[in-house]
Amino acid sequence: MNKKQTRWRNRIIVALVLFAIALIIENTGLLEAWFGTPGDLYAELVLFLIPYLIAGYDVLLKAARNIGHGQVFDENFLMSVATIGAFALVLFPDTEPHMAEGAAVMLFYQVGELFQSYAVGKSRKSISDMMDIAPEFANVMRDGQLVQVDPYEVSPGDEIVIKPGERIPLDGVVIDGESQVDTAALTGESVPRQADPGTEVISGCVNLTGALTVRVSKPYEDSTVSRILELVENAADKKARTESFITRFARYYTPIVVGVAAVLAIIPPLLFGQDWADWILRGLTFLVVSCPCALVISVPLSFFGGIGGASRIGILVKGSNYLETLAHADTVVFDKTGTLTSGTFSVTAIHAEGSFTEDDLLAVAAHAESLSNHPIAASVRTAYTGAIDPERIQKVEEVSGKGIRAVIDEHEVLVGNGKLMADAHADWHDCELAGTILHVSVDGEYAGHIVIADMVKPDAAEAIAALRRAGVRKTVMLTGDRADVAQAVAAQLGIDEVRAELLPQDKVAQVEALLEAQAAHDPKGKLAFVGDGINDAPVLTRADIGIAMGAMGSDAAIEAADVVLMDDRPSQIARAISVARKTMAIVWQNIIFALGVKFAVLVLAALGIANMWMAVFADVGVAVLAILNAMRAMNVRK
Ligand code: ADP
Ligand code: MG
Repeated sequence: MNKKQTRWRNRIIVALVLFAIALIIENTGLLEAWFGTPGDLYAELVLFLIPYLIAGYDVLLKAARNIGHGQVFDENFLMSVATIGAFALVLFPDTEPHMAEGAAVMLFYQVGELFQSYAVGKSRKSISDMMDIAPEFANVMRDGQLVQVDPYEVSPGDEIVIKPGERIPLDGVVIDGESQVDTAALTGESVPRQADPGTEVISGCVNLTGALTVRVSKPYEDSTVSRILELVENAADKKARTESFITRFARYYTPIVVGVAAVLAIIPPLLFGQDWADWILRGLTFLVVSCPCALVISVPLSFFGGIGGASRIGILVKGSNYLETLAHADTVVFDKTGTLTSGTFSVTAIHAEGSFTEDDLLAVAAHAESLSNHPIAASVRTAYTGAIDPERIQKVEEVSGKGIRAVIDEHEVLVGNGKLMADAHADWHDCELAGTILHVSVDGEYAGHIVIADMVKPDAAEAIAALRRAGVRKTVMLTGDRADVAQAVAAQLGIDEVRAELLPQDKVAQVEALLEAQAAHDPKGKLAFVGDGINDAPVLTRADIGIAMGAMGSDAAIEAADVVLMDDRPSQIARAISVARKTMAIVWQNIIFALGVKFAVLVLAALGIANMWMAVFADVGVAVLAILNAMRAMNVRK
């Protein structure tokens, strides 16, 4: 509880005590003895006005201020009118007085408000705790001394030392030491990862067992930690349709309710000679019940909880609207390389042709690939044991979905698939081996090919099965790779449809066709695309919902995606869908529950059956229950 809430709580307690004393005095008949009749009535008024004003003066002030700003119909207004009205019934001396109710409504309304503010604060805090990954400092070598500096002051290329127990402040590569790294804060994965020289480590993880020296690869602004914090901060701004519906709903609902209450209070006595006091009281009770706060507060809170819960298992959802879309995922489209397969290819064969040796072939390919971010490129560089000499490379151009065009040692070199060879009219031929084939040509002469094989991720088959269990109707794999490789992977994983040998723009066209097919089948169902952003960032934005691999994926993918999986495991998709569905279920439970109770009590109030006390319960009780329900959205099993 913060200072403001503590003061607020104390004020409410004082008001409650005074209210209890007032109730006792009222019921002992002391007032009549002291003041006689009708003096006792005014004494009672003063007695209850004291706790009322202590508890509710701020509500009255807010209502007055909002009227000044032209925003008349809010909950402060409802509460002020209803309670002042209850006190004003003192003007009808021959009816039961309702001072106690007037004070009680305000008191319990404030109790409910305090509870709400506490719940919102608490869920904010647990999200920020979960996201408590911001490093405070980095240890950098300066003049042979280790100094602590702000992570913002460290530049790429600097060497930093991370002692056991410290948080890794910036993304980088281990150059010395070995240790276990706890990635739980980012990925929810409880088993620590081993880090040795050469391992890439990401900021936000905690170094557990040994000291690590890391060469920083990105400035702090671009490191994983800053990107995640930024995503989480922006998530709250993207409202789900359900959520903005509630805001709009409240805007129309409140004036309507005020109108109905006025009609209820005025028409029956005026036209049908009914008792004024009785109908005014009904109108006021109606106003108290009508306050839509349970709805207005619990719906955003549920979405907030869902986003927080997902982040605990390493799934970053960029806004509540995406949670809503994800809950309706019906078609899930995957990219192959880096998404369903690990993207770490191993070279299985090298077939040199003509005057080239196998070593020449690999050296030329590794130089051509030396600047590419593609998983294939990284694998070729790993297979090449020699050093890359930047002097030998004159020009490099990436031909997306096809390969690389480069000038090396003054020779025109092409490294890529059959499409690239065909474009260049090289005299190439296919290979009978299974796998992805990298053809190489030098100055138009075919130099042979390198056969590389990729591994399916360990949880990929389970990911597809889990999606099917979750009710996803269709799974599709799109790839730029060869049809036979694609078919083999799809068969192994149980994917429904495959489209192979696609260029990046073909992938967009395929997704557009699938979107149309989805709309024709079931317009409410949504299409999700899952990719790593290498050659598929445009598709991520085109799909109803784009899901990116965060750890290995490109920055562009993380920008373009709506949901980011921090640990690159495709099985997280089904979990993300289940978190989304649970959140939506809670949202609808709250909407139906709050509106249902509200409507029932409204009818009872109009009929004169519900009294003010019931109205108070309907309001505060429903709000509290709805908030408790909303907080369930945050409980996601790790
Ligand atoms: P996927 O759709 O499976 O993720 P991509 O669209 O990234 O695959 O690539 C499609 C194909 O283009 C690859 O299978 C490969 O044959 C070729 N290719 C793409 N980039 C490169 C590269 N840097 N070097 C060699 N070949 C490449
Ligand atoms: Mg890819």
